[in-house]
Order: sequence, then structure tokens, then C-alpha cells
Amino acid sequence: MQRVVILGSASAVSDEHHENSHLLVQIGDRVILVDCVGNPIVRLKKAGIHPAQVQEIILTHFHPDHVSGFPLLLMDMWLMGRNDSLKVIGVAHTIERAQKMMDLYEWDRWPNFFPVQFIAIEEQAMTPLLDDQDVLILASPVKHLLPTIGLRFLFKNNGKVFSYSSDTEPCQAVVELAKDADVLLHEATGLSIGHTSREQCGEIATQANAKLLYLTHYPPESDPEVLRHQSQSTFAGPVVVATDFLNIDLT
Ligand SMILES: [Zn+2]
Repeated sequence: MQRVVILGSASAVSDEHHENSHLLVQIGDRVILVDCVGNPIVRLKKAGIHPAQVQEIILTHFHPDHVSGFPLLLMDMWLMGRNDSLKVIGVAHTIERAQKMMDLYEWDRWPNFFPVQFIAIEEQAMTPLLDDQDVLILASPVKHLLPTIGLRFLFKNNGKVFSYSSDTEPCQAVVELAKDADVLLHEATGLSIGHTSREQCGEIATQANAKLLYLTHYPPESDPEVLRHQSQSTFAGPVVVATDFLNIDLT
């Protein structure tokens, strides 16, 4: 199995049908979580994932609608008896704050906590974030209100590419991350500082020559058909408005 599961598709103000934007990437039994919000254990369970399968957590940036569930997930993993180490990866700005957030909970007093490896990557275009037998993940700084990374996943077994803009204004970095991608998942908050309109999502997908465009991180009250048409006006390929627990097949 090789897939992406959308765990949440809402922009910062979510509703009962749309959790804040986060997702998982599954390669066989292995799971990489991208951002961590709300009550992650519940979302993972609903997606058919046991938390023990999560080996890495990538945090794209330190806004509450992307990291609020991080302490709860770590605590729950510990209470469930996890022994395996967990990697938490992001830029220094994010990683330092994620550690401080855990320190506020005085997690050093939680006995026999499993090993957590915090990894701060360079804030440079196309920095390898992870490179092993399954996947190469590249990260580039994008244009948001604080240090934020977009991602490009190259699956080693079939050469497929999945790209994720994270929160950003339209920028060349995402065009590069999504170059000839099989799937580009782009934020579609709407025209505002640090974010992207749906027409601009389509423009980025066109410039990148992406095959498929998925929209996420949109206000939950939006009409999906309107969003789709707006992106479709600037992109000739298929546009899908992501919904919570949508599967994107990458086999
Ligand atoms: Zn956000």
C-alpha cells in the first residue's frame, strides 16, 4: 500500500466535518505524519493506522492549526507502551518551539519515555529531509508568515512524486517542489497574506506541470464546486477538493 490520507482539510478555523490540515503518507506498514493537530490518535485510528506505525513526524511550521496535537500524540504513544524511537523533523524555528512545548508539560518527569529524536534541517531550497530505501523527501522554504516548509516525496519503488505546498503564498519554491509531480496538494485558503487563491493554485500546478491538483486548507464553509471551478480556470488537468479521510493512491 502506498497512499496519502488527508486527515484534515480545513484552514485554521475548522468545523465538525473538516479538521485542521494534516495528512499521513503510508508506504507499506510505515507511516510518516505531516503536521499534528487536534486529537491525532482518533484520526489515525479512523484512517486504519496504529500509532506504533508512525516512525516520523514532519512539522511544516509552528502555527497552532499545524502542531496543536503534537504533545497529546506523544503522550498517548507513551501511554500505549511505545519503545521505538520517533523522529520529529522541521526547520530550527519549528523544532525549538516543539521542544519548548513539550518542556512546558515537564515531559522529562514522564518515566521511561521512548526516544524522540528532534532533527532541525537547513532552511534551503530542496534540502533532503529524509532519504532511505523507501522515500526521498525534499523540503524548501515557502512564503508564509513564519518559517515554513513545502515538501516533495519521491517514492523509490515506482518513481511517483507527491508534493505538498503547506501554508504559503504562491511561490517559485512550490513550482520547483511540484515539478512534474503526479499529485500536487496545494493550500487554498483564499487571497490573503501568507496564503493562496484557488486561481493561483491552478497557476502553480500549470507552471509545475503537475498531473493532478488537490486543494486543501480551505474554509470549511466553502462550496467545493466553486473552489474546483476557480482552480480549473487556470489548470487544464483534474482538480479535486480534498476532504477528510480522502485517500490519494500512489501505487
Ligand atoms: Zn494553517
